[in-house]
Amino acid sequence: MILTDTHSHIYSEEFDQDRKEMMQRAFDAGVQRIFVPSIDSTYTQKMYDLEQQYPENVFLMMGLHPTYVKENYEEELAFVEAELSKRKFYAVGEIGIDLFWDKTRLEEQKIAFKRQIQLAKKYKLPINIHCRDAFDEVFEVLESEKSEELFGIFHCFTGDFNQALQAISYNMKLGIGGVATFKNGKIDQFLNQIAIKHIVLETDSPYLAPVPYRGKRNESSYTKLVAEKLALIYGIPVEEIAKITTENAKAVFGI
Ligand SMILES: [Zn+2]
Repeated sequence: MILTDTHSHIYSEEFDQDRKEMMQRAFDAGVQRIFVPSIDSTYTQKMYDLEQQYPENVFLMMGLHPTYVKENYEEELAFVEAELSKRKFYAVGEIGIDLFWDKTRLEEQKIAFKRQIQLAKKYKLPINIHCRDAFDEVFEVLESEKSEELFGIFHCFTGDFNQALQAISYNMKLGIGGVATFKNGKIDQFLNQIAIKHIVLETDSPYLAPVPYRGKRNESSYTKLVAEKLALIYGIPVEEIAKITTENAKAVFGI
């Protein structure tokens, strides 16, 4: 069984003490493909080092995370643009809007989101969207950039059924992770009405660990727990979930 974790911050300090063991647990669980979103330039070297260590398993994205849109965001965007021009990435991400932590930089977040979508189009790459307490704002930007060339993943999708359909209408797949295993997570109640071709798996490690590790550190090996939950929701074997969601991830990332 080959599983694909489409969103995992394996470079996080949370793994500095046992990263090798964490990666081995992922491989042992069948998680052979890990897509790694960028946050800001301070982590880039660590990402490159991990890619060099695990060239068959680690695939990098480049982008500026919305909660890292600060005073220096123009410099950070210039960095993103420069890196994209230099080498291969598999997506522009994670990018989007987050109004949970800070609403004061909404305008800057919108500008950064829009500009990075345009970069993704330029390099024919998918985007990896981070959206927290900001569905209206994210959809507004997606609407303004809507085109055949716009595609990607709505990472850690937590919206309702109609928002899921709207995300899909912009050529987005839904990134499903630990939240699907939460009692109050809500998405498990309508997910079986969404065709599975629109679904990819993710962990968002080290955050949002699935049950029974909720509240603890998350890691890529737990992608298997998410796959098992989806097998229950869709009523099909977990091997089938692994196969389909890995194919869906290939369709997005091109690998
Ligand atoms: Zn993330």
